[in-house]
Amino acid sequence: MKIDRQINAQWIATVNESNDLLKDHSLIIHQGQILDILPTKDTDKYQASAITQAPTHLITPGFINAHTHASMSLLRGLADDLPLMTWLTEHIWPAEQQWVNEEFVTDGSRLAIAEMLLGGTTCFNDMYFFPEVTAQVAQDMGIRANIGLIVIDFPSAWAKDADDYIKKGQQLHQQLIDTPLINCCWAPHAPYSVSNQPLKQIHQLANSMDIPIHIHLHETQDEVEQGLKQHNNRPIERLDQLKLLNHRLLAVHMTQLNEHEIDKIATQQCHIIHCPESNLKLASGFCPVHQLQEKGINVALGTDGAASNNDLDMIGEMRTTALLGKGVANNASALQADTVLRMATINGAKALGIDQVTGSLEVGKSADILSINLNDIASQPVYHPISQLIYATSRHQVQDVWVAGQQLVKNHQLTEQDEEAIKTKAQQWRDKISST
Ligand SMILES: [Zn+2]
Repeated sequence: MKIDRQINAQWIATVNESNDLLKDHSLIIHQGQILDILPTKDTDKYQASAITQAPTHLITPGFINAHTHASMSLLRGLADDLPLMTWLTEHIWPAEQQWVNEEFVTDGSRLAIAEMLLGGTTCFNDMYFFPEVTAQVAQDMGIRANIGLIVIDFPSAWAKDADDYIKKGQQLHQQLIDTPLINCCWAPHAPYSVSNQPLKQIHQLANSMDIPIHIHLHETQDEVEQGLKQHNNRPIERLDQLKLLNHRLLAVHMTQLNEHEIDKIATQQCHIIHCPESNLKLASGFCPVHQLQEKGINVALGTDGAASNNDLDMIGEMRTTALLGKGVANNASALQADTVLRMATINGAKALGIDQVTGSLEVGKSADILSINLNDIASQPVYHPISQLIYATSRHQVQDVWVAGQQLVKNHQLTEQDEEAIKTKAQQWRDKISST
């Protein structure tokens, strides 16, 4: 049988239900999907148009960055070493007020997607202004994306008030409904920046449109205290009263949780998006990931935007997740390597409702794949490839990346993009922004 591509790998981490790690196996890819996975010695029945040899490599599902603000890459390093509210209100929001427009979002999204692809991310869940622009850039670059239909009470260059954001979000969802690789979710910014009326409306619309809701929640102690002052309850309680706590909710951060809230999140089957590096950098607090997993809560991983991380590196995020998770749980066996790889792949797909399509390497799923070369001084010798990936591998070892069977990174380089042009645009924005 003629097929598009065969990848012969030393190891394949399938991230399937039984977490099979296969040795000397091949992935058979045809028409964008995984057609077969079998021992390389048994592949005679396939005649591949292209063969990728990965003799010292680990193949994994593409990473899913379940929370980011892609275009904020242009603000990377603009204001560091500050607490969240000072960072937001005195630096990020004024810069956004002045600079964010379609061109900013085009150039920022392109920079972010280039960085993500080179680091093995094949899908990202975004929240930002001009989401139609990010959607277009994602389509042009071939990456899978979940585009957040942002809602915030404040005016921006994109919309004037909550009603306007919601109206524009509905229109964009309609426009994107048949676009391959692109999905939408509602993205009310945070409990402190979106009032009850729009939140109620978003709840109803998410149900009728059958899409998730993506929100920053319990990011800091300040947020919880402000919620108590303004609404007389903690933000999670408020969202519960507004009926938002359910399987559609992707709650990002969740560093401030009591036992009662953890039980509620578990019972109501919300998903949690853990962003440890952003939480560490802004000193926001610690998400009790091990405890959440023990309750059966689905926890996925995100980098957050490059302005608060400051990179979009899922391999780095996995390492931080494992190390921090052990420290917070005071348990060296918490957050084991294969658990953390699941968080960066299939758990993200589950949160986004696309686990039938991507998130693991299984027959019938999309060929969203990366290969990591472990034949590097810093990764030798290899006893356990997945441990090696989490604890002793850098994103610069990502060699090849495919999304829906299309090769977007080959030999550590973007196949379809001019990396120099992307860097030049970033430097031009830096010159403009820093001159004010
Ligand atoms: Zn965020």
